[in-house]
Amino acid sequence: MLAEYAVRVERSRGRRYSEPQHPYRDDFQRDRDRVIHSRAFRRLEAKTQVFTRGYSDHFRNRLTHTLEVAQIARTVAAQLELNLDLVEALALVHDVGHPPFGHAGEKALDAAMREHHAFFDHNLHALRIVENFELRYAAFPGLNLSFEVREGIIKHSHDYDAREFPELAEYLLDKRPPLEAQLIDLADEIAYTAADLDDGYEARLLSLGEIRDGLPVFNAFYQNAEESWPAAMDKLKFNEALKRFLDCFVGDLIRNSKANIEAAGVRSLEAVRTYPERLIAFSPGIEEQRRQAKAFLYERLYYSPALDLEKKEGERVIRELFEFWMTNPQSLPSSYQEKAAREPLERVVCDYIAGMTDPFIYDQYGKYSPASR
Ligand code: MG
Repeated sequence: MLAEYAVRVERSRGRRYSEPQHPYRDDFQRDRDRVIHSRAFRRLEAKTQVFTRGYSDHFRNRLTHTLEVAQIARTVAAQLELNLDLVEALALVHDVGHPPFGHAGEKALDAAMREHHAFFDHNLHALRIVENFELRYAAFPGLNLSFEVREGIIKHSHDYDAREFPELAEYLLDKRPPLEAQLIDLADEIAYTAADLDDGYEARLLSLGEIRDGLPVFNAFYQNAEESWPAAMDKLKFNEALKRFLDCFVGDLIRNSKANIEAAGVRSLEAVRTYPERLIAFSPGIEEQRRQAKAFLYERLYYSPALDLEKKEGERVIRELFEFWMTNPQSLPSSYQEKAAREPLERVVCDYIAGMTDPFIYDQYGKYSPASR
């Protein structure tokens, strides 16, 4: 059952290269399956989300994070009667543009590019992956995904200005993305907020006391759990509270988005696109809680001294390898040397590094770092 404002696959703007219909999978189902079978998707398994491999096998990596985003996004989409196949494709592809070492890697790659008057943006990189770098078909480069998936890759988390990015003009930059794309960013926020509290607590970088003090909503759920199971282990009461915390955000997102859609009188995809604001949103109260939780995680976890050393090391590895290949392009794999004949070298080096997993970039660093040369 699809709402009247949902994206309908039979009205898709289609693929860049036309293809015959599949006998029993529609275009968005095929897009989702193409993402799952891509190399970039498999590499997510060896990319850091927040904690590197060294910590624990139980912590999230970028692949398990992606699966959690897909679960949350599907739950919300089903309640809003949106296109589940499109939502799933968008959730599964949403992080493929991330470089190794999480946000530290992104920052270092962007800084290296800025020295060449360019920049790195993971959404734009994801688009380059699905449009060019995945080589799976004889007839065309990339995955040849439907317009709505490519549009969602670009527009799920923020808007791009058409004057600044003329190459993205086809993606209707002056209009809002469909609700299927709008909800990905918030499903992402819910997923990593809950997951990072969980992993941060498990890693003993966040204490129960500081989480309870910093997050009033979590604290209220923890108190409930304590009343219900006074003798249970702290970790189990923590799990009970975290589950309710997550559920509270998901429930609010569903209810508030429904109310927004209703109040806006939006009854078609075109009305979603031309509405002045995004309609998928938390209520003001929960939005404030989300902001608080995010600020808490930045201060106590992401920028904590415990994770700082690793982050600095990741940034250094990227910076030094970037410099190395800029001055020694003959050491790039031959396919990248060929690309450098057609594109600026810094872009080619950036693409190469951005695609790497954490273990592979360490392997390259072992080969090419100043100390090993
Ligand atoms: Mg994400």
